[in-house]
Amino acid sequence: MNFYVMTLFPEMIDSCMNESIIGRAVEKGILSIKAVNIRDFTLDKHRKVDDYPYGGGAGMLMAADPVVRTWEHITGEIVERKKSSDNRPKTIYLTPWGRKFDQNAAKELAKEEDLIFICGHYEGIDERALEIIKPDFYTIGDYVLTGGELPAMVMMDTISRLVPGVLNNEDSAVYESFNENLLEHPQYTRPEEYRGLKVPEVLLSGHHANVEKWKKEKSVERTKKYRPDLLQ
Ligand code: SAM
Repeated sequence: MNFYVMTLFPEMIDSCMNESIIGRAVEKGILSIKAVNIRDFTLDKHRKVDDYPYGGGAGMLMAADPVVRTWEHITGEIVERKKSSDNRPKTIYLTPWGRKFDQNAAKELAKEEDLIFICGHYEGIDERALEIIKPDFYTIGDYVLTGGELPAMVMMDTISRLVPGVLNNEDSAVYESFNENLLEHPQYTRPEEYRGLKVPEVLLSGHHANVEKWKKEKSVERTKKYRPDLLQ
């Protein structure tokens, strides 16, 4: 899976996406993450990427041209690698008014070979860039962040866990919260007793069927308590 992140702050992506599980998957070549600086695709000598919005209003807006040029550069690179322009690579614009990103969306997106993320900044991007690029629109929640970099990283992290080979044990992605619309059951590690609190007996019993039954019951219990909406 190849991620491309169009951003004005590539260091944000480079510094956060090379650690731990994701970092190891990049090293192994299962994932590639390329942050592309939109500013590198400006044509004026001041490398200006923003301007005042027509009609007034607070703040600045990212201009269409550097965004479109960056996107064309990336799609050109993908076409070159694949030696085919048959499928337009899926592009995602992070925006508060997009579709809510969740585990099901992550599963869908994990099937893609290439994903391009466009990170807005300031008050967003000139609408014409979006009309030309025709991205899908995603939000990570009903709040407004400074830029699209954190949402892009949240999405890449979530999607990466579903790409075969990224997690050591593929089961860990299967038996996690939101699978089958349930939250994960409580979990324990050593010691058997901590500050007077004991690990539930059934988990020490070695009785596989009983352990599975307990896990399912606890998952349902937790989901009813914290996310009853998932059960509807
Ligand atoms: N003026 C925009 C609005 O009201 O919809 C908000 C712009 S926000 C300050 C700047 C950029 O951050 C957006 O273009 C988007 O890329 C990103 N962003 C902010 N909140 C987000 C969220 N909840 N989900 C996804 N992206 C977000």
